[in-house]
Amino acid sequence: MNIGLFGGTFDPVHRGHLAFAQEALDRYKLHRIYFVPANVPPHKQHQPLSPFVHRFAMLALATARQKAFIPSLLEAPPPEEDAAAIRTNPIRSNPVRRNNKSAGQEKPNYTIDTVRRLKQSFKASDKLFVLIGMDAFADIAKWHQAEALFRECEFIVANRPGYSLADVANALPESLRPRPEVTKPFHKHAATGDLVLEGASIHLLGDLHQAASATAIRQAAAVGKPLGRFVDALVAEYLQKIGLYRAAKQSRPFEGLGTGSVDRRQVAAVRNAPASPRKR
Ligand code: ATP
Repeated sequence: MNIGLFGGTFDPVHRGHLAFAQEALDRYKLHRIYFVPANVPPHKQHQPLSPFVHRFAMLALATARQKAFIPSLLEAPPPEEDAAAIRTNPIRSNPVRRNNKSAGQEKPNYTIDTVRRLKQSFKASDKLFVLIGMDAFADIAKWHQAEALFRECEFIVANRPGYSLADVANALPESLRPRPEVTKPFHKHAATGDLVLEGASIHLLGDLHQAASATAIRQAAAVGKPLGRFVDALVAEYLQKIGLYRAAKQSRPFEGLGTGSVDRRQVAAVRNAPASPRKR
């Protein structure tokens, strides 16, 4: 079976994520895709982040109608840890502040560990594809055990306008990167099709025309803008009920889990937010 793994913060999961996953499912004949929200995303450890339970709940709602999409607890926090984080700050928690732990004390969720854990349940004929956006793939060489990751799985990359095949090749860890004379002609090629190299298989999906961005959605939610265009209707309803990204004054104290405090930088960002989400 072909199995997909789609990791991220999903704060919140949006239509861009879902369109990408659906396209990957259809194009590469995947049997299922695990959506894996990270408890401690390695590259966002110093940013405020909604509690894992909320991000997971939204994923469960957004994927409910597609049998092949499976919300996964592969990177879930230990149960007592998430509960403590919610008691401390029910609306926006920052992994750095959780359980009075300081930065670096909580183990980040490295994709290589998740991939290896997932593959323990695989049959010999199963094949793993990691789904990733081009913005994240551009930094892949800095990921923990990046070369090993390319040996463990193939990648399906959602391209963004403006990226060429050379950008994809040059993002690879040095030992896998083709020589400059090889990638030179790649500059003229849009990043679509398959790039199969020794030690790396990358499948590129063209621009999916889904401009949704989680950052812009959080900003829109904070000022009470309608979200139906950007997130699944059930997710929009959940956000409305819980008041997840609402600015402090507007949150409803005793509803759901909301007693609301929002990171100051977040509120400032909201005040300066553009009317429509940025194109990713
Ligand atoms: P934020 O704005 O909070 O950084 P994000 O959506 O970029 O949000 P994640 O939730 O971690 O961040 O994204 C999970 C994965 O989905 C990443 O690989 C990212 O590149 C990819 N992704 C994000 N938005 C889109 C989109 N509109 N289309 C396709 N892939 C996307």
